[in-house]
Amino acid sequence: MPNFSASIGMEVHAELATRSKMFCRCPVAFGGEPNTRVCPICLGLPGTLPVPNRAAIEMVMRTALALNCTIACQSVFHRKNYFYPDLPKGYQVSQYGETNPIGYAGWLEIGASTGSPKRVRIRRVHLEEDTGKLIHLPDGGSGIDYNRAGTPLMEIVTEFPPDIQSPEEAKEYLTQLRQILLHLGVCDGKMEEGSLRCEPNISVRPEGSAQYGTKTELKNLNSFRSVQLGVAFEIRRQIAILEHSGKVHQETRGWNEQKESSFVMRAKEEEDDYRYFPDPDLAPMRFDPAEIEALRTTLPELPAQKERRYVEEYGLSMKHAEQLAADPAWSSYFEEAVAKGGEPGPICNLMISDFAKLLNDAGLLIGESKVRPDALVELTRLVKDGAISGKTSKAVLADCFRSGGRPSEIVRSMGVTQISDPEAIREAILQVLAEHPDVVAKYKSGQSNVKGFLVGQVMKKSNGRANPGKVQELVSETLDKP
Ligand SMILES: [Zn+2]
Repeated sequence: MPNFSASIGMEVHAELATRSKMFCRCPVAFGGEPNTRVCPICLGLPGTLPVPNRAAIEMVMRTALALNCTIACQSVFHRKNYFYPDLPKGYQVSQYGETNPIGYAGWLEIGASTGSPKRVRIRRVHLEEDTGKLIHLPDGGSGIDYNRAGTPLMEIVTEFPPDIQSPEEAKEYLTQLRQILLHLGVCDGKMEEGSLRCEPNISVRPEGSAQYGTKTELKNLNSFRSVQLGVAFEIRRQIAILEHSGKVHQETRGWNEQKESSFVMRAKEEEDDYRYFPDPDLAPMRFDPAEIEALRTTLPELPAQKERRYVEEYGLSMKHAEQLAADPAWSSYFEEAVAKGGEPGPICNLMISDFAKLLNDAGLLIGESKVRPDALVELTRLVKDGAISGKTSKAVLADCFRSGGRPSEIVRSMGVTQISDPEAIREAILQVLAEHPDVVAKYKSGQSNVKGFLVGQVMKKSNGRANPGKVQELVSETLDKP
């Protein structure tokens, strides 16, 4: 029986974070009372004319540049014709063609953290408009909410033949892409609200075969987990069919999250079915090279560049750098702490361990916390100076998290300042040795493992406030004195 290889193409839709819709001035937002953000233009009423949203076009261009695409000098909008109740105009404004989309022929690198980087080629980055939503009513009927209709939507499609070959790569591609969109501020990236949607198409073929298998497209994936599970399921399903000499049908399948399986939604349409033609109401867009280059200079530092800089400049591990660079709110918090004199290593450690846990438990975003970057700087400094132990710092951070107080004041009010004064520690050691002459005798006779017990006793005597490193050092010194 042959082995099979999988090929995964990724189609990602990102709702753009503009204030208004693509061709009218209705506000863009999530949820709300149905049909309250609509007007004659986005409802497609006769006699209206669309006016393209400049901000949306610029967001797509910036994304295309960040994804190493060529920018089209001339780009037109097409009508994609089909009927569905969520599409009030009877067509969707989109962009068709090889070199017509605002951006084409780009790439995104994945796998940098595992040491085997790989370029995933991108076929197109284009601009279109979102549809409305069908709502299933409690009485069994259906309603339509057009609040979302006409929201600017960016589509990012990978090249064929696909470079992505596993569910893990599919998930990583989506993760990296989402981070870039967040850094550019063009999409809020909320998969659970549908503002970022991923529709992978999957095919398998016998290993070494030059001909690609029939692909199926998967929908309803509303988390990274679903994307990975869904792609893995579809690969297994198709392999099972081929192993039994069956035929994979070209179709769109939905993902059932509860059952962790996919089901047939509809047979897949061909591109010709949509009768694309240039929208006569919308003038072609023209971009000149100077304008494109000017826009390129406004791109922020992207996650991959940021990671490299954190490793080179701050000596962080690639894994830690990746964790910080993943979210712009986290990286700017980290950089603010470093700018305020924090040491990158300890600040990073504190952020991704104790601080991350506190935020997670409280369900807060980093920007919502009362702990500001300068407080973390102060806290790491207290530990470094030996004023408090690493263990105490956890309690101080937790207090700071609740109260928003300054770490140094919290330390004072808790009375937990660490004892690092060698004289004070020596005094405690002498008391402990006097209390346990039998243990001392064991040590002198060669049982060096009893030292831990003595160290523990000294720590206990100081209520845990003695600097553990110092205690270790001074106990050895005292015991080994001839
Ligand atoms: Zn409108």
